[in-house]
Amino acid sequence: MVARLVLATRNPHKVVELRPILLSAGVTVELVGMDQFPDVLDVVEDGLTFAANAAKKAREVAQATGLPAVADDSGLCVDALNGMPGVFSARWAGLHGGDRANVELLLAQLGDVADADRAAHFACAAALALPSGDERVAEGRIDGLVIRAPRGEGGFGYDPIFTPVGSSLTLAEIPAAEKNVISHRSQAFRALAPALRDLVVP
Ligand code: IMP
Repeated sequence: MVARLVLATRNPHKVVELRPILLSAGVTVELVGMDQFPDVLDVVEDGLTFAANAAKKAREVAQATGLPAVADDSGLCVDALNGMPGVFSARWAGLHGGDRANVELLLAQLGDVADADRAAHFACAAALALPSGDERVAEGRIDGLVIRAPRGEGGFGYDPIFTPVGSSLTLAEIPAAEKNVISHRSQAFRALAPALRDLVVP
C-alpha cells in the first residue's frame, strides 16, 4: 500500500513541483495538497526562522488531518541587509504588495550597494511531522547575487533579480526544469528524503 503524505499548501503548483523531487529521491508516496482538506484552517506563519515556520505548518496539518505532513518555508536572504527579507520575503513591501512591489523595494534599498557587495542566497526549510508528534527539518540554499534590474519572464518572486553563482542568467531566465534541480527547495526536500523513507514509506 502506498502511504499518503499531505503537503501543507493550498498552492497546487507546489504539489506538482514536489512530486518529481520526491520520486527522484526514491520516496514513493501519494502526495496530496490541502485542497483535499477544505475545512482545515490556514496556519499562521509567525516564526522568526524558516525552520520554525516549516515545522509549525507541518505539525498543525499533521494534527488536523491525522496524516504525515510536509511543509516548507523559504525566502531570499541578502547579506547587505543582514539576511533580510528572510522570513518576511513574501510581504517585504506590505501584506498586499506582491512580487513586483517586493522586487522594486529591495532594488531601491540596494541602490547604493556596490556590485561586489550584493551577495544573497535563497534558503528553504522543509519539515516532516507525524501525527505521533515526531518531527524532522532539513534545509537547502542556493547562493548568488542580486542584480540591478529585473530580467526574464519565468519563475516568481525574486527570481528576475537573482543570478546563481556560476551563472550570468537570472532564475527567471533559467528553464523551470533546471531551476527545480538546483533550487533551495529541491535541495531541502532531497535532504529530508531519508527521513521520509524511514518514517513514512511502509
Ligand atoms: P513561501 O515559502 O512560499 O512562503 O515563499 C516566501 C517568499 O519567498 C515568496 O513569496 C517569494 O517572494 C520568496 N521566494 C521563495 N522561494 C523563491 C524562489 O524560488 N524564487 C523567487 N522567490 C522566492
